[in-house]
Amino acid sequence: MRIEIVCNICSDDKSEEQSSFVSYSRLCSIRDDGIYEFKCPEGHRSTTVLRTPKHEVLFAIASNALLDGYLRESIASFAASLERFYEFVIRVICRSKSISQQGIEKCWKSISKQSERQLGAFTMLWFVEMGDPPNLLSNKMIELRNQVIHQGKVPTYQECIDFGKAVIDVISPIEYKMLDKFSDSHTDECFALSRSVKEKHEQPLTTLSIFSPLDAAIRENESLETCLDRLRLQRKNQGVPSIGSELIRATTVHRVPKET
Ligand SMILES: [Zn+2]
Repeated sequence: MRIEIVCNICSDDKSEEQSSFVSYSRLCSIRDDGIYEFKCPEGHRSTTVLRTPKHEVLFAIASNALLDGYLRESIASFAASLERFYEFVIRVICRSKSISQQGIEKCWKSISKQSERQLGAFTMLWFVEMGDPPNLLSNKMIELRNQVIHQGKVPTYQECIDFGKAVIDVISPIEYKMLDKFSDSHTDECFALSRSVKEKHEQPLTTLSIFSPLDAAIRENESLETCLDRLRLQRKNQGVPSIGSELIRATTVHRVPKET
């Protein structure tokens, strides 16, 4: 998956009297730290921070992988999205208790390398807070994920869609309850990265949000297929073709007459 980082200085500098001007942008791969430095050909330097939370970025990567025809990668990223969502929930709840970031990081360190520990921490924390255990992935979906990640299984396109939908079905009710009960902490956690980057940088920063298929599926109650259609259209506008499960190609073949 690639995102487009625009040089805002190029765009801002041009007076409205000019009928056209060149605006530079950088197409680049997603970075783990969410920070994108750009020196455009005019010499303008800018720093852009991706505001979209990590679990939504991973879901977007999974959706793009699906449209690119990388089916194993799609399930791996959908699964990673769900794991990071559990972390997001833990952090939001800790924030709502005014626990220091230093304390959270110290505790997180002991579970950061084992996803089963994180799942356990999430499940119990949610149960204590809400009084009901959260709905988790079904055994069938866990088995599919394990086969893909640990046994090299190549899933079908439909299995990827089913897995993506199962992830939405787990996240959606939790997200709604969290928005209802921990609205302020939820917003704070979403802005945590861009805020910490802003504090460390002296120059002004640009914040960027990308189209989030997960957010559209949850907040706009769209089906995964509709979200993928929207993503497909966005890619088309950027000149990126979408393959999905297959692409039918028509090629005109010119025969060279045989010499007799
Ligand atoms: Zn520029």
